This record gives sequence, C-alpha cells and structure tokens, in this order.
Amino acid sequence: MIQVMLDLQKLQLQAIALSLEDEAEILKLREKVPAPILAHFDRLIARGKKGVARAVHGVCTECHLQISSGTKASLAYTDEVHICDNCGRYLYLPDSELLPVIEAPPARKAPVKARGAGTRQRAVAQAS
Ligand SMILES: [Zn+2]
Repeated sequence: MIQVMLDLQKLQLQAIALSLEDEAEILKLREKVPAPILAHFDRLIARGKKGVARAVHGVCTECHLQISSGTKASLAYTDEVHICDNCGRYLYLPDSELLPVIEAPPARKAPVKARGAGTRQRAVAQAS
C-alpha cells in the first residue's frame, strides 16, 4: 500500500502539467488507498509537502526526528501504515532498512506478501 502512495506522491507532486494518462493513473492509484489515509495524504500534498517519508536508521528523513521504537518495529514487521509523530507524514522503510535480522530473498520484483508467523525454531533434542 505504501508503494501506491509513493507512486501517487510522485505523480501529484509533479511540477509539470499532468497528462491525461497521469490523471487516469492517479485516479486508479487513489482507489487503492483507504479514504481517511488519502484525506491526510492530500492535506500534506496540498501544502506542497511529501505525504510519505522514508524512515532511515530510525529517523524520519523529512523532519529528521527519531521514530519511536514501537513504530519502527511495527514498520518492519507489519503492513500497517504509520505516521511520523512529529511531521505527520506516512512512514515507510526503504528496502535497505527492512528486516535486518531475517534475511530476505534478494528478489525485488515479487510483491511483498503479508508475512506469516514465521518459522519457529525447532528445538532438536537429541539424546546421545
Ligand atoms: Zn517526520
């Protein structure tokens, strides 16, 4: 979902006049974003701000303030959308910040599916 918003942001913040295709694309993307999120996003864009900010090293790249550890963990491990406590932009983790613990497969083309509970470590009790 955050990817949709990034695409939207790119299109809506374009300085040049939008082509008909761009407008159609915007409409299509907007349909994928829930209305309350879109409303907040639009308010940011209307003020000429980015609606979506990257979270790098635990810091919002737009306002440069720390993101709470709870929000960071949630960004990394869930698909929930979070906003920066300070500037109110939607946060996302770039690929480089994703899952430092679990090794993700390098394939970037595949859409990220919702993560399951993960594989539990099996305790191998071997009596010798
Ligand atoms: Zn911020």
